[in-house]
Amino acid sequence: MRVLLAIALAVVPLAAAPRGLRAGVARVDITPDGPIWMSGYGARTHASTGILQRLWAKALAIEDAKGGRVVIVTTDLIGLPRIISDPVAARLSQEKGLERSRILFNSSHTHTGPLIAGNLFTLFELSQADRAPVDQYARQLADKLVQVAEAALGDLQPVSIDYGAGEAGFAMNRRQFTPKGVIIGVNPQGPTDHSAPVMRVRTADGKLKAVLVAYACHNTTLTAEFYQISGDYAGFAQAAIEKQHPGATALFVMLCGGDQNPEPRSALALAEQHGAALAKAVEGVLSSSMAPVAGPLRTAFENTELAFAPHTREDFEKQLSSKIPAEVRRAKLMLKTYDDRQAIRTTPYPVQAIRFNQGPTILALGGEVVVDYQLRAKREYPGPLIVAGYSNDVLSYIPSRRVLKEGGYEAVDSMIYYGKPGPYADDVEDRIFASIGRVMKRVGVKGVR
Ligand SMILES: [Zn+2]
Repeated sequence: MRVLLAIALAVVPLAAAPRGLRAGVARVDITPDGPIWMSGYGARTHASTGILQRLWAKALAIEDAKGGRVVIVTTDLIGLPRIISDPVAARLSQEKGLERSRILFNSSHTHTGPLIAGNLFTLFELSQADRAPVDQYARQLADKLVQVAEAALGDLQPVSIDYGAGEAGFAMNRRQFTPKGVIIGVNPQGPTDHSAPVMRVRTADGKLKAVLVAYACHNTTLTAEFYQISGDYAGFAQAAIEKQHPGATALFVMLCGGDQNPEPRSALALAEQHGAALAKAVEGVLSSSMAPVAGPLRTAFENTELAFAPHTREDFEKQLSSKIPAEVRRAKLMLKTYDDRQAIRTTPYPVQAIRFNQGPTILALGGEVVVDYQLRAKREYPGPLIVAGYSNDVLSYIPSRRVLKEGGYEAVDSMIYYGKPGPYADDVEDRIFASIGRVMKRVGVKGVR
């Protein structure tokens, strides 16, 4: 009998060997109840007209052998601003004892989802009647995010976790150089990162419990003429993975796709096609040999301070006669800050690191981070690194020094729609990499600069 047991144990595949990790997953439907203004495109003229695909908030909770926990919350949304994510994190801290560094909120940046109160707040000037569903949605959303994180923590069970990376080719640099400056177009020569990191979570009996896939590309296959709610390619990718693996939860994490667009775009069939391409990359990784992930987990989080380029009251007085309605709205907001003697010179910026002792480190950056950050972080911190953007606070685009110097939408124009006073100061990349250096040091990851 003893011999038989020994043989039985010996044939258990290595990948399923327990490493003391537990994981839990949960999902909550965050599809708007009725018509609501959609975010992402200023050209929109009315509220949503129907639902093509449900939107989800999903949570993956992971606990190491010593009880150290993290919760990764992904959302099929344009972007969660700090005014939503901070109170949710505070509630989770109070109710579950989770420190801020142990909760990561990521947004898929779908442009066919609802307008989120506090994000891109100068994009539209809504009537009170149109405003009401947006405010109502934000209130319900906060409760649902707490709920989904708690449900994942309540679902913890022994698992094995593995890591691998595939590739999908549809991300295209969108900063096209023209005689009139940089426009949003296609730039086949511009930097991209086609890698698609994958984390696999399996229960003790080898059943697939969760798949997390990440990619650096705007979730904008569907353009301004689409008025039906959906998760765009990221939504289709998650649905395809879940269809392929009944019972498993697929989570999408947006990386530094601030200056990347899907190519080609502007058709529903293309959103499905890109989703299928990402799902296919995932299948390739799942069927290859993946690297085992082990704890303990180490986490660090800080809010660093980013500075804006100098501005004066006169700048905004001039902008009051702008032909761009959002620029006039921004100017009024900024003049009010001058009136109140509280002109905005800096903004807090969240930087987070989550490190598995063996396996990937997740570096999570706020805002619509351009791909330069991802490429540089991977150069300076070799070893598996997942560089998420759109995390914890989607406050603005985050240009690199290069992009800032070149100008264009990600550097200058987008700041109007985010209600920010203007472009960042020249040292934005330095400040963020200094902060990255600090959080990486705190989790014990050494750089190779
Ligand atoms: Zn964007």
